[in-house]
Amino acid sequence: MTTDLATFASDKGIKYFMISFTDLFGGQRAKLVPAQAIADMQKDGAGFAGFATWLDMTPAHPDMLAVPDPSSVIQLPWKPEVAWVASTCVMEGEDVAQAPRNVLRRLIKEAAGEGLHVKTGVEAEFFLLTPEGDQISDPFDTSEKPCYDQQAVMRRYDVVREVCDYMLDLGWGPYQNDHEDANGQFEMNWDFDDALRTADKHSFFKFMVKSVAEKHGFRATFMPKPVEGLTGNGCHAHISVWDAPGDKAKTNVFAGDGDGQTGEVGLSERGKHFLGGIMKHASALAAITNPTVNSYKRINAPRTISGATWAPNTVTWTGNNRTHMVRVPGPGRFELRLADGAANPYLLQAVIIAAGLSGIRSKADPGKRHDIDMYAEGHKVRGAPQLPLNMLDALRAYDKDKELKAAMGEEFSSAFLNLKMQEWNSYVSHFTQWEKDNTLDI
Ligand code: ADP
Ligand code: MG
Ligand code: MG
Ligand code: MG
Ligand code: MG
Repeated sequence: MTTDLATFASDKGIKYFMISFTDLFGGQRAKLVPAQAIADMQKDGAGFAGFATWLDMTPAHPDMLAVPDPSSVIQLPWKPEVAWVASTCVMEGEDVAQAPRNVLRRLIKEAAGEGLHVKTGVEAEFFLLTPEGDQISDPFDTSEKPCYDQQAVMRRYDVVREVCDYMLDLGWGPYQNDHEDANGQFEMNWDFDDALRTADKHSFFKFMVKSVAEKHGFRATFMPKPVEGLTGNGCHAHISVWDAPGDKAKTNVFAGDGDGQTGEVGLSERGKHFLGGIMKHASALAAITNPTVNSYKRINAPRTISGATWAPNTVTWTGNNRTHMVRVPGPGRFELRLADGAANPYLLQAVIIAAGLSGIRSKADPGKRHDIDMYAEGHKVRGAPQLPLNMLDALRAYDKDKELKAAMGEEFSSAFLNLKMQEWNSYVSHFTQWEKDNTLDI
């Protein structure tokens, strides 16, 4: 593992480092630092005005320093003279409590204190659009059921292959790529890892896909529902918990009896309690996993042209069935299908751990497993809570969930709610054509 960035630079021929951090809205912010200056920056950090980004700070706050975490450094495969490095945000000698990567680091430490080491994999779906972002880049990609479309995926082979080759070189263990359920939509999968590593990779993946797409004259978007009527961009997370971090992990403490399909669900007692925490906090958790106005066009959505949205509407769980919020595809792990492409990679992992730990501590019961087609037969499940219908409902649910707010950190939670309520207010004060169309003649 890299520890000294100056040595890394001379070994690899790096000319510039992008010292990067992620703000509350998931934006990646960076300074480009020449290799000659990296030794000092590694010690002291690069200075940022937090207020100038989506962090809940004022212009009067002291400098925020982004101190690179050398274990995260990646040489840009498409521009090898530059390296990206995630960093720890520090102010006046203390970790900035609201900074998303710090929230995650703190929760990972808390879980480790209880002998729990979370490993996750994410499926970050994206669309390839024209550079203006108003059309699918491939005019021939029009089929009604475009999922796994062999011809269409090959028309975007140059982009998909380039990103997959880079993941192979980076040692991420990519294993499949496909055309997804919406026209213009793709998914690329790589191996799961410790939660912080997955969050760093997820961030870098978004940066890489956007950069490679731009290089080829396209625009990649992870927006939850970029095209009305088509399936949206999910970001499913698969979760298991182990006895040790990294390569030391030997036992999956989530693995229980059963195959996950029939009868016994394949999750251990602790696995069920962790899942119980996710179920219990689901409405509040949506504020983090589905953080934008547009997120609520993907969940609770009407059927798409392909026949199914593949996104959940209710807080329910099941075996290997893709119509619920949680699917247990096999023994020892579960899939949270709620999150979308706008989820902040660090907060997504953090909120899963926060809710899961709360479930383990309170021995939460995940409730009944429902083995039905939730899209067709959802009305049969009485009392299943519906997911929030919009961002405001989700923010209010988060604000009401004292336990989850505390687990995510009071300082983070109040910063997040402040900025997100401002965003909601900006949205509702925006005058739309819809209201004119529907109100003018009243
Ligand atoms: P699907 O489309 O069926 O939901 P994918 O193959 O697209 O599944 O993605 C599965 C993700 O789950 C991958 O990132 C994979 O590495 C990850 N995964 C597999 N097993 C585990 C596990 N035990 N713990 C955490 N993540 C896992
Ligand atoms: Mg300046
Ligand atoms: Mg998948
Ligand atoms: Mg998918
Ligand atoms: Mg999935």
